[in-house]
Amino acid sequence: MTVYILAEHRRGELMDVTFESISAARRLNDEVVAILLGTDLADHAEKVAKYADKVLVVEDERIENNTEAYTQVIGEIIKKDKPKVFLMGNTSMGMDIAPALAIDLDSPIATDVVGISEEGGRIKVTRSVYNGKVLSDLVLREAETSVITIRSGEFSAADLEEKNGEITKMDSPLKEAIENKKFLEFVEPVAGAVDITQADVLISIGRGIKDKDNMHIAEELADAVGGVVSCSRPVVDYDWLPKDRQVGTSGKTVKPKFYLAFGISGAFQHVAGMKGATMIVAINKDIKAPIFSVAQYGIVDDLLKVMPALTEKIKELKS
Ligand SMILES: Cc1cc2nc3c(=O)[nH]c(=O)nc-3n(C[C@H](O)[C@H](O)[C@H](O)COP(=O)(O)OP(=O)(O)OC[C@H]3O[C@@H](n4cnc5c(N)ncnc54)[C@H](O)[C@@H]3O)c2cc1C
Repeated sequence: MTVYILAEHRRGELMDVTFESISAARRLNDEVVAILLGTDLADHAEKVAKYADKVLVVEDERIENNTEAYTQVIGEIIKKDKPKVFLMGNTSMGMDIAPALAIDLDSPIATDVVGISEEGGRIKVTRSVYNGKVLSDLVLREAETSVITIRSGEFSAADLEEKNGEITKMDSPLKEAIENKKFLEFVEPVAGAVDITQADVLISIGRGIKDKDNMHIAEELADAVGGVVSCSRPVVDYDWLPKDRQVGTSGKTVKPKFYLAFGISGAFQHVAGMKGATMIVAINKDIKAPIFSVAQYGIVDDLLKVMPALTEKIKELKS
């Protein structure tokens, strides 16, 4: 069984979801072929080939930043090669491409999946439903190719085996330039915005911090450890932090090395966004708070005492 994945890149950078897609494809224990489309792809091809069995490269400026052209080209490749699965990230690109591709191929589609396996030759996926409260297992109907998008951050690429796969350049199968859809510009996030999905250390704050005036204590700890402040939803609702810092089902999924949860109870909507962190430390004055059930370490105490003490200790150790 062969799995094709899309190597997603933007503004000269390969997206992490490319390697996460390879990781998800490896769960099917099979050959992984990456499709890489656009222009100036030589460096990307080398990086992807390190972990894929094969990389198909189509250099064509008509494809760059045009999801309709992507869909057509991927469709042509899949119709010819007939992989068992085509897999990509459930990113804005994936949401554009995957459903259109499934219609074109008359394929089953499963989106935003968090688990994948093969059972008796059929593809089984896990989706998180009801805001993360329930995990639902689905077996896809028999088909030549199934289309799947994976949730970013769910399939770790940390332990990918090196393959040094073969890089094959292909002629572009795009018949004509797409005129009805045009790329205009990238809109940068507002200045100063922080990407919590990329941080190694998150100091995450919940309602337990009680007052906006206490937020500086979290910033001081984040500065001391070289981390970033994230939060639960009430902190955003109270306007203590912007929405792009919110972790959870209606916020972002994060996978830092360290996630320190201060005054966060551990509602499932929050936990769904941070349970993939390598190390979780919970600080809560309530020993029965559900957050302790997902944490490797816990401190039962007042965060307004613990946070400044930690900041002091870290500064002391650093000096
Ligand atoms: C559709 C939907 C989507 C949602 N999406 C999200 C989401 O994306 N992210 C999210 O976070 N939530 C989300 N929620 C809200 C979620 O259900 C919870 O209400 C929320 O996560 C609770 O935030 P919290 O833990 O900060 O607050 P609380 O549940 O009020 O917990 C505060 C915690 O702080 C502790 N505490 C209080 N004082 C101190 C102190 N001095 N020292 C130490 N500990 C202290 C308390 O013991 C308590 O455990 C969503 C809800 C719905 C319905």
